[in-house]
Amino acid sequence: MSSSHPHDLAPDTVVVAAGRPAREPDAPVNPPIVLSSTFVGTGTPGQGERTYGRFSNPTWDPLEEALAQLESSPLPGLVFASGMAAVAAAMSLLPQNGTIVIPRHSYNGSLSLVADLQSRIGIQVRLADIADTEATLALLDGADMLWLESPTNPMLEVADVAALAAGARAASVLCVVDNTFSTPLLQRPLELGADVVVHSATKYMGGHSDVVLGAILTGDAELRDKLHAYRSLHGAIAGPFETWLTLRGLRTMALRVERAQANAGELARRLDAHPAVEAVRYPGLATDPGHARAAAQMEGFGSILCITVAGGEVAAEAVLAALRLWTPATSLGGVESLAERRRRHPGEPESVPEHLIRLSAGIENVEDLWNDLRAALESTR
Ligand SMILES: *Cc1c(COP(=O)(O)O)cnc(C)c1O
Repeated sequence: MSSSHPHDLAPDTVVVAAGRPAREPDAPVNPPIVLSSTFVGTGTPGQGERTYGRFSNPTWDPLEEALAQLESSPLPGLVFASGMAAVAAAMSLLPQNGTIVIPRHSYNGSLSLVADLQSRIGIQVRLADIADTEATLALLDGADMLWLESPTNPMLEVADVAALAAGARAASVLCVVDNTFSTPLLQRPLELGADVVVHSATKYMGGHSDVVLGAILTGDAELRDKLHAYRSLHGAIAGPFETWLTLRGLRTMALRVERAQANAGELARRLDAHPAVEAVRYPGLATDPGHARAAAQMEGFGSILCITVAGGEVAAEAVLAALRLWTPATSLGGVESLAERRRRHPGEPESVPEHLIRLSAGIENVEDLWNDLRAALESTR
């Protein structure tokens, strides 16, 4: 694998250039998919030898290298079977009876896993309003792990990641950031002082809603060894084809994110002025509570926005049913625009309004997206 690329390339170049095969006569420009469960073994197992497909697969290497360059990690990333496999691996770093501080509006899979760990192995959970830096810092006393997402899903609260990571470091609390929403194009938590970064690559990295995959990045060799051992022991490994598809998707991530967030910004402004919309949440709106912090810390505001619909839950469901171009579906970060009433999921926190619709803006023509949304909103009035 070529690691000859200088690490000072811009992120929108890195997504294209990283993880390419070594430049030799007749070499392919893309890495191959290696479908093999075992590898010829003549060395010493455990000392760099591939050995077996649950420990290592050459298809993982270029994606793990590319993600490390993107997240400014000195060590290669680790790809996992899904974002939740990566979340579970990161949470396995909690000690027995350990305490986690986690946003009250985290991804609901992460909150469900924390509840499961609480009931099965007795971890302590402290829910945080991560937009309140002082209150979150006050929860760190005696904690073992600070879990962050910024912006949160789906309330789009923005954390001061640098201040919280510094507070965690001072209190000897491990700081893990789920950076799925921001992507390393908009926010690089390791540069802001976090210890570990988790991704659902299912979303923006894959980018086409055709793959489920996760990843972890850390610059700490000891932590990486633990996470690697967890992946091997639990078999939480990514399939070679999914890994290859994710690298394929990553090549266009900068273009997709740029277009999708331009669409989101325009739609947020128009929705904010529409009488059928009660409120819009989007850090890119100057009136949003997270705006100043996101502007200072992120290189863009992302492409997720939320609206609450005048007329409540019934009106919100009617809007979703009336959409023709936007797809009513869960997930986010794909080329196609998706819309979902989050409270339809039983695990969603009750502090998320019943009539909140999360919109994942895709890369379609913004006028078509607007016309579809406007028609759906007006059909309910
Ligand atoms: C989707 C998502 C996950 C879980 O990832 P999967 O790939 O679905 O397992 C974790 N965190 C966030 C923020 C997500 O959006």
